[in-house]
Amino acid sequence: MNVTKARKSPPLERWMRRRKWNYAKPRDGLRHRLYDLVSGRHRWYDWGHRLMILTGTDFGGSWSEPTPPTWWYRQGPPKIMRRTGFPRHPLARYEIVTDYDEFRSKTKGLNEDEMYRWQAIGLGQDGELHLGRRYWGGTFYGMAKADTALLRRYLRMWRRLDWYGLRSWLYSQGLHAAVHQKVPRTCQVSPPKDSGGYSHWYCDQKRKHDGPHRYRNYQWDPTKKRVEHTPKVEEIARLEEQLNLPHNDGSRRAESDGGLADA
Ligand SMILES: [Zn+2]
Repeated sequence: MNVTKARKSPPLERWMRRRKWNYAKPRDGLRHRLYDLVSGRHRWYDWGHRLMILTGTDFGGSWSEPTPPTWWYRQGPPKIMRRTGFPRHPLARYEIVTDYDEFRSKTKGLNEDEMYRWQAIGLGQDGELHLGRRYWGGTFYGMAKADTALLRRYLRMWRRLDWYGLRSWLYSQGLHAAVHQKVPRTCQVSPPKDSGGYSHWYCDQKRKHDGPHRYRNYQWDPTKKRVEHTPKVEEIARLEEQLNLPHNDGSRRAESDGGLADA
C-alpha cells in the first residue's frame, strides 16, 4: 500500500458518505449514528464517546442526554360518533406535529388567535417538562382536561424511547467514561486535591515511570503541591492536528475541561 492510499478515509466511511449518511435525517436516526461512529476519530479504548453516539440525542451537532422529541399540537374540529351524534373524545381531534420545521411551516403567517390554538409538550435541555404555550414566548396557561390524555401518551412514548430508564443510564456511563478517559497500560495517577488539577486527569506516562506525572500539557511532582503547565513542542503539534479533525459528538465539550480547575 502506498502512502497516499493510507491517508484516505476508510472505505466504509467513504461508502456512507456517497450515500449521504452524513446528512441523513432525522439527525439522530440510525444512519447518522453509524456514520458518526465510523468517522469519529476516537481511540480504540474510548468506548465512552461511542456509547454516547449510540444512546444520545443529537443536539446541534453533539450527542447529548437522550431526550424525546417535542410534540406541537392543536385541536381540530370535533369528530362525531356515528350512532349517538355525540362528540368523540378530544384525543381523536388532536393534530400532532413532531418535527420543528414542519411546525414552523404550518404556523407561518398565522395571526395571534390562530397561533394561540397551538400548544406543546416537550422536555427542556435539563429534562424539565414544558407544557402549554411557552414555546413562542407566551406564558404558561396550564392544560385542558383532555390534554392530560395527550400528556399520558407523551410520557409513555418518552419511557419507551428511553428504554425504561436503561438508555439514560447507559448514556451517563458513556459520558463519565468519555470525561475520565483512562489510557490502558499507563500510570493513571490523578493530581492530588487542591493542586489545581482535575480528578479526571490521569497520568498518561508509562506504568512505573520515572520523574513527575504528566497529563497532556500538565505535570505534577508527587512531592510538590501544584500542577504545572509545561507544554511540549510535539504536544502542541498533536493538539493542533486534533483540532483540525471533525468532531461531531460532544468530544470537544468533554475536552474543553482540560484547563486548570482553579488557580
Ligand atoms: Zn504517572
